[in-house]
Amino acid sequence: MANVTSPSPIVLITGGSRGIGAATARLAAVRGYAVALTYLERAATAQALADEITSSGGTALALQADVSVEADVLRVFGEVDSRLGTLTALVNNAGVLERQMRLDEMDVRRWTRVLTTNVVGSFLCAREAVRRMSTKHGGIGGAIVNLSSMASVIGGANEYVDYAASKGAVDSMTIGLARETATERVRVNCVRPGPIRTEIHASGGEPGRIDRIKTAIPMQRGGEPEEVASTIMWLLSDEASYITGAIVDVSGGR
Ligand code: NAP
Repeated sequence: MANVTSPSPIVLITGGSRGIGAATARLAAVRGYAVALTYLERAATAQALADEITSSGGTALALQADVSVEADVLRVFGEVDSRLGTLTALVNNAGVLERQMRLDEMDVRRWTRVLTTNVVGSFLCAREAVRRMSTKHGGIGGAIVNLSSMASVIGGANEYVDYAASKGAVDSMTIGLARETATERVRVNCVRPGPIRTEIHASGGEPGRIDRIKTAIPMQRGGEPEEVASTIMWLLSDEASYITGAIVDVSGGR
């Protein structure tokens, strides 16, 4: 959809083409947000979701961006400014992991991709959001939710210590940025999922990973993307008006 001007709250969801991001985009649209969702390479999937939202009476844009590339992030925020309006919410959802292995088998290319996407990507988007939302910059306020992972606590041993460490950085950024912007009407929170049924596990080389580990989850099952999306949307909402710098585990007790 082009050249939309909307009075609705506006959310940018990175990595919104599938998985947790797509579930969040659907729920945000139902809750009355105009939605900008980004994708890396699956243009048709992202556009189909934007069309689904639009045909249900909502407002959605599908935008290509690699969150680890500053020029892409600047372009996407600029498109949201001009086509939707003043951003009021950011979901820093785009994230990657690579094939399961021990740290002593990993190479620098992998670390660079994982850390740049998950950490620098989240920082870049958070910076652009604060520049628009913060009263210090003339904004009207807003809310940011970052996607971490229980791996940040557990460590990802024998699977992806690099991914776990990247999510540790996301936890720390959440706390620090929340304190920086607490008096500027910007709330910053974090959702820390356990194993959720999405395609990310195939990226690690084990699509059936959740079935292997589910007996180690107190609730004995993986989570669904919608169970994470509802927590994200709650943290973005005014129901969470006194919550900032919080990390909410959505992990079945893991
Ligand atoms: P997913 O199903 O693998 O989807 C990843 C999304 O990120 C896709 O929309 C993908 O776009 C996009 N993406 C990948 N690399 C990108 C890049 N460099 N720039 C921009 N977008 C990029 O992932 P998910 O399972 O929904 O995970 C979402 C978030 O939750 C991630 O941060 C992940 O670490 C976190 N998380 C997930 C789990 C889990 O068990 N699923 C657990 C804990 C935390 P394309 O579709 O175009 O490829």
